[in-house]
Amino acid sequence: MAPLVGVLALQGGFDAHLKLLRDLGADVREVRTPADLDGLDGLVLPGGESTTMTLGIAREGLAEPLGDVVRSGVPVLGTCAGLIMLDREHLGLMDIVARRNAFGRQIRSFEADLDFPDFDEPVHAVFIRAPWIEEHGAGVEILAAVDGHPVAAREGAITVVAFHPELSGERRLHAQFLECVRTRVA
Ligand code: GLN
Repeated sequence: MAPLVGVLALQGGFDAHLKLLRDLGADVREVRTPADLDGLDGLVLPGGESTTMTLGIAREGLAEPLGDVVRSGVPVLGTCAGLIMLDREHLGLMDIVARRNAFGRQIRSFEADLDFPDFDEPVHAVFIRAPWIEEHGAGVEILAAVDGHPVAAREGAITVVAFHPELSGERRLHAQFLECVRTRVA
């Protein structure tokens, strides 16, 4: 049976994630209310605007049920604003502090090829007003960096990237995430 992956769909770039996950063989569900979290095998927090997302999460009463899902060990993939949402200063679900718009206003968007420990070929990364990881706890593994600033990390079943793999035809991160999802439900 295909695993069921929820994508937070209050705001931001959730559509490209839904399409990519579907292409990779997952069943997908847009998450807008606490009830949408029921029975998920995996969860994606997309990019967007973290202040707007924070307001939406508060309005829908999603913070606590989302936290319960993440703490239960369901694999999570957070991209860009999704990375910010997981940090100590937002949902507090990952032992990192994100710095918003960290690459400066004049370099709002750029692309880079990043080496990842798990992949032979570099990951082509599209950064859009991206954060970086300013601080992280000892349990957090840094997977990639730009100019010494961490832009991808893993802690337990949570993987975060500051860029947008779903916009560059980069499928490996989602495929790896789905592998974790499938292993856990098998
Ligand atoms: N700059 C956005 C924020 O701070 C994140 C940008 C993105 O998700 N592409 O919320």
